[in-house]
Amino acid sequence: MNVHRIAHDGESPEGVNSTYVLPDRGVVVDPGPPGERTWRTLRNGLDVPLDAIEHVLLTHWHVDHAGLAIHLAEATGASVHCHEADAPLVGEYAREREQRLARDERAMERWGVPPGRIETVIEGDEPSPLPPTYPVRAHGHGEAIADVELLHTPGHTLGHAAFRAGSALFVGDAVLGTYTPNVGGSDTRVEHPLGTYRTTLKRLRGYDGTTYPGHGGQLDHTERIAAILTHHDRRSVAVRSALDDRESATPWDVATALFGELRGVHVKMGAGEAAAHLEALASRGRIQQVGSAPLRYGP
Ligand SMILES: [Zn+2]
Ligand SMILES: [Zn+2]
Repeated sequence: MNVHRIAHDGESPEGVNSTYVLPDRGVVVDPGPPGERTWRTLRNGLDVPLDAIEHVLLTHWHVDHAGLAIHLAEATGASVHCHEADAPLVGEYAREREQRLARDERAMERWGVPPGRIETVIEGDEPSPLPPTYPVRAHGHGEAIADVELLHTPGHTLGHAAFRAGSALFVGDAVLGTYTPNVGGSDTRVEHPLGTYRTTLKRLRGYDGTTYPGHGGQLDHTERIAAILTHHDRRSVAVRSALDDRESATPWDVATALFGELRGVHVKMGAGEAAAHLEALASRGRIQQVGSAPLRYGP
């Protein structure tokens, strides 16, 4: 399988965004973050003529992956493809953004985040330069686009997908080389986010081949999946011990105990991650839920 990687520069804790071109299939995976500069990087990095691109595949709705999708589709005449659960967030951008902000606000209230912090997160959410609506093709697990198989890999987002082409596996943000992908805060639609994500990782472990993540270059996914699973096991222990000296705590209490002062979007990511761990611990009977508005857990 001929795979060409385009690395976008720019600062992200997850590492630089990676776009992949499969010239033999006319496919581009995750065109990258929106903006003139990233568009130039993409254009200069494409080693095929624009009209050779027929399909734009998105691993998930996050703007650092999907931001250039429509721009690329319009420039090439290509169609845009996504798992059916994430497709509306790209294809019905305006409507879904409103709903997402309302949903995130409710989630943060449930997690016990103070109102002032919630307001900062919601106001800090910059609208992406995507058209209000655009035809995005929605797919289910196992479907193929230009002989590239879509694998549903939920957790980081509800409709997160990996793509398999020959021996190449494009995993988006499900497995990253130097960073543990957020669960819980990165898509507030996911129920049981930690358990869902763990199942995805264990399933991905069963595939071999060359793995291309959504940030950074090629990685050994077996090794990284083991490291990410261990990381979450340790974090669960830390979340459990944060409850030791308290009668009860909200996800926000636990997030600040674990991560210290949280700012900007990290308020949502940190509280969401704590909430994901608390929910998983409670479902295993390791802690108890003692309140619901906001959520409270006790040892
Ligand atoms: Zn992401
Ligand atoms: Zn990402």
